[in-house]
Amino acid sequence: SDVPLPYKRIILKLSGESFVPPGQRGIVMSEVVDIARQTIKAAKLGVEVGIVIGGGNILRGAQFKAGNNCIQEATAHYMGMLATVINGLALQDAIESLGFPTRLMTAIKMDGVAEPYIRRRASRHLEKGRIVIFAAGTGAPFVTTDTAAAQKSLELDCDILMKATRVDGIYSDDPETNPHAVLYHNLTYKEVRDKNLRVMDSTAIAHCMEHNLPILVFNFRTDGNIDRAVRGETIGTLVGA
Ligand code: UDP
Repeated sequence: SDVPLPYKRIILKLSGESFVPPGQRGIVMSEVVDIARQTIKAAKLGVEVGIVIGGGNILRGAQFKAGNNCIQEATAHYMGMLATVINGLALQDAIESLGFPTRLMTAIKMDGVAEPYIRRRASRHLEKGRIVIFAAGTGAPFVTTDTAAAQKSLELDCDILMKATRVDGIYSDDPETNPHAVLYHNLTYKEVRDKNLRVMDSTAIAHCMEHNLPILVFNFRTDGNIDRAVRGETIGTLVGA
């Protein structure tokens, strides 16, 4: 296209729920291929795309909070991180089945499964136009892949963190339970914090705020939205200073 893109390099945070139809769990390959197709379309515009993949379609560590004396919560978080690796493998094959090159890198070393995450190597893959999938989150328990997405965005010098969700952006209340919830188009980090809006985990928001990293929250179920987001169209909610 002739219009210059607003971003050179982005992190796309895909939650595990983008791998299944609404309300389901596990992995439904047709859904994975669909999100892969949308991502490739955006990458073909010429932006460098790193994907931080979630694992909530399989398991979230917080499910094992107090009350469960069998599996410790920390253990469950490691299980969650491994879930993101399962998703990463599925997404990698889906993207490559559509003819686009990828690399899968994990924050927990797993020889024989994927490359270990090494910042300079990841950057090189991105420069070469590969879609790089980052799995196993931060490699540490008690945070979510939102924090991993914020960290990867910062250390790989990305222009924006794009968080794909199942709703249109950030609302004044949960739009799935409150029909009067209002969609915000622009918010400051401070507003997100003061209004206690559920956007990302608090560690992730703190990272973005401290380093002035813009966050775009948008709906991945609307076909073409990843492409629109990468073109800089005003969709979803933009969070900034
Ligand atoms: N997780 C973790 N450390 C990380 C990233 C993830 O312990 O750096 C665990 C955590 O238990 C989390 C789970 O992995 O709930 C799956 O990730 P997440 O909940 O972010 O998945 P999503 O909601 O994006 O599908």
